Amino acid sequence: MNISDLNGHFPILVAEDDPIARKILEKTLTKEGHEVVSVENGRKAFDLFKERFFPIILTDWMMPEMDGIELCRAVRNHQASGYVFVIILTSKDSKGDIVTGLNSGADDYVQKPFNPAELKARIKTCLRILELERSLKEANENIRILSITDPLTKSYNRGYITECLPKEINRAIRYKRSLSLVLCDIDHFKKVNDTYGHPSGDHVLIEFVNSIKQSIRQDLDWIARYGGEEFLIVLPETGPEGAYILAERLRNSISKRKFIFQEKAFNITCSFGISGFDSATSDENISSESLINAADHYLYQCKLEGRNRVKAGYVGKTQSAIFNDKRLLFNHQ
Ligand code: GH3
Ligand code: MG
Ligand code: MG
Ligand code: MG
Repeated sequence: MNISDLNGHFPILVAEDDPIARKILEKTLTKEGHEVVSVENGRKAFDLFKERFFPIILTDWMMPEMDGIELCRAVRNHQASGYVFVIILTSKDSKGDIVTGLNSGADDYVQKPFNPAELKARIKTCLRILELERSLKEANENIRILSITDPLTKSYNRGYITECLPKEINRAIRYKRSLSLVLCDIDHFKKVNDTYGHPSGDHVLIEFVNSIKQSIRQDLDWIARYGGEEFLIVLPETGPEGAYILAERLRNSISKRKFIFQEKAFNITCSFGISGFDSATSDENISSESLINAADHYLYQCKLEGRNRVKAGYVGKTQSAIFNDKRLLFNHQ
């Protein structure tokens, strides 16, 4: 289980070798509504912790096999998915012992025999801290989403392309897979703004992205806004032939679709430039730049030849050689 799956639910792992004390702890905490899992020594607690994340550990100090201090250190050295709040239960009360406990990574301590009211209060403090951590993580995640999202169309933005396209390319090369880019540019989009107004242009951009999102694989493919009315679709595990089929389908459906905004209906068309490679048959040095440049080149060809069309080609000499040095594989219309 991951910290983000907990959703404000904070199960407690209890390590205590004395069966009576263990039962009392279990009862006290369960009564408070907590999910409690208890074991009889630090070793068992750590083994369990490695399998399942617990945000709260309540551990006795003196235990056979692995004591509370060793458990604390082991937990701190383990790469956990979130912060773990560790409370040590101890009958030791000299200042030196408390310092040893806190230095080993414990966040707090409760003296034995414990006072149930005090234990509950300590757990409450710990819940406040964990809740704070959870909301900070959530806020960070929201900021991250905002930082990679285009505010108008909710597609990814240019920053996301810079961050993720090299990773997609590296993955495709490492696993000897194919990858394609589809660069789409709405034709004569300026006319839409000029004729129907900027808000209707915005509406087209939003609808355009939504319809593309519905036509690509949710788990693998992604679309990002490359510039004003220009979008990049990234298709992992897909060669230019497959990308061409998809783009042709998109081109066709977009050209037939009626866009309606403030009771005015109009059509648009779009041009698509595609570049791709297959690492199984090509050992070329492929970069984000070379792929985008090639897609842009084919897109430019589409515009030159009259728009509302798709052009695709492989990137890389090896591939070109296989196709008789014809870099342009497909040519619609
Ligand atoms: P072409 O077929 O050659 O691509 O022609 P075009 O008119 O689509 O291309 P051009 O580059 O001349 O114009 C792009 C237009 O896209 C101009 C710009 O105002 C508009 N645009 C860019 N971003 C937005 C936006 O967020 N909202 C709206 N409504 N328009 C935008
Ligand atoms: Mg003990
Ligand atoms: Mg355009
Ligand atoms: Mg453009």
